[in-house]
Amino acid sequence: MEKRIYNFSAGPAVLPEEVLKEAQENLFTLPGVGMSILEISHRSKTFDNIILGAEKDIKTLLGMDDNYHVLFLQGGATLQFSMVPMNLMPPKNKADYILTGSWAKKAAKEAKRVGTVNVAASTESENFTRIPKQEELKLDPDASYVHFTSNNTIYGTEWKTEPEVGNVPLVCDASSDFLHKKVDIKKYALIYAGAQKNLGPSGVTVVIIRKDMLERSSDGLHTYMNYKIHAENGSMYNTPTTFGIYIIGLVTKWLLKNGGLDAMYKLNCEKAGILYDYMDESDGYYKSTVQKDSRSLMNVTFRLPSEELEKKIIDEATKAGFSGLKGHRSVGGLRASIYNAFPKQGVADLVQFMKDFKSRN
Ligand SMILES: *Cc1c(COP(=O)(O)O)cnc(C)c1O
Repeated sequence: MEKRIYNFSAGPAVLPEEVLKEAQENLFTLPGVGMSILEISHRSKTFDNIILGAEKDIKTLLGMDDNYHVLFLQGGATLQFSMVPMNLMPPKNKADYILTGSWAKKAAKEAKRVGTVNVAASTESENFTRIPKQEELKLDPDASYVHFTSNNTIYGTEWKTEPEVGNVPLVCDASSDFLHKKVDIKKYALIYAGAQKNLGPSGVTVVIIRKDMLERSSDGLHTYMNYKIHAENGSMYNTPTTFGIYIIGLVTKWLLKNGGLDAMYKLNCEKAGILYDYMDESDGYYKSTVQKDSRSLMNVTFRLPSEELEKKIIDEATKAGFSGLKGHRSVGGLRASIYNAFPKQGVADLVQFMKDFKSRN
């Protein structure tokens, strides 16, 4: 088999090697089934166990009670930009959005098609280099919900704690940091996450929804857009992403086996710490693009003294087996995405490479 390289891609992104190997081993035939996961019916007992297992593991990892549904939907986080307001905004037809990056803006854009969007805060005038502070939030106590983006994949910022929103339901796009640490699930009415960053392959989106929120879903909605339909049908109103859900199940088992989310968070802090500490010691050669208190543990964004050097380091890094370091086209610079499955050794090796590059350039 060809040697694997370090994959710093923002998404689809690195998966645990153990998960890939298990999936590979069992791809031809699932043990005791005689068919591939790619071939079995979603109505089979085997798949029932797979989807219920994935759901149960997510509940265990987050310490969730039966007050929540875990749904596996399609259409990416992007479809959730629409489904959230279509289901949760009526009848008041107004919601608060906190704008911390491109994804948050895209979410707000779809919400505007349904009702009134109050921008509770935005750091756009500062090029999204930080997360707003609690006292900056101009929240409407009568809003249908507050929407925020827990990790800003493109800008490299992350909320350290949830915004305080009182009794207004809190909705979170956690696409790029879902399950990177344990969160207090009781603070949330809804969390959604496209799987392809921190959880599995593309094509499946996890939606965690508090049961009382389902009362808001109007019967007049198009069927696929209605959370209540998906909840009542155990995510199988239509054919779900069987393979994606299977991989999510393997990833959640890998998380549980490795100590759960507290252990994962500790490791994520260590990994990101290696990179940020070195950048801070590099005499401004490698500059973090975000304010210190807003630094993401998942997507580490930084710049070099010139665009020429940035191009050079990306070229050399790619040749040396560090893939996917180019920053998002809207920001430039570099971005190292170091999700749960990204190995700590890979971060240490990258830092060594950056030291060498600096001494040569
Ligand atoms: C990648 C990403 C999205 C978009 O996800 P799709 O699955 O491509 O629709 C939305 N929000 C955040 C925070 C993301 O990182």
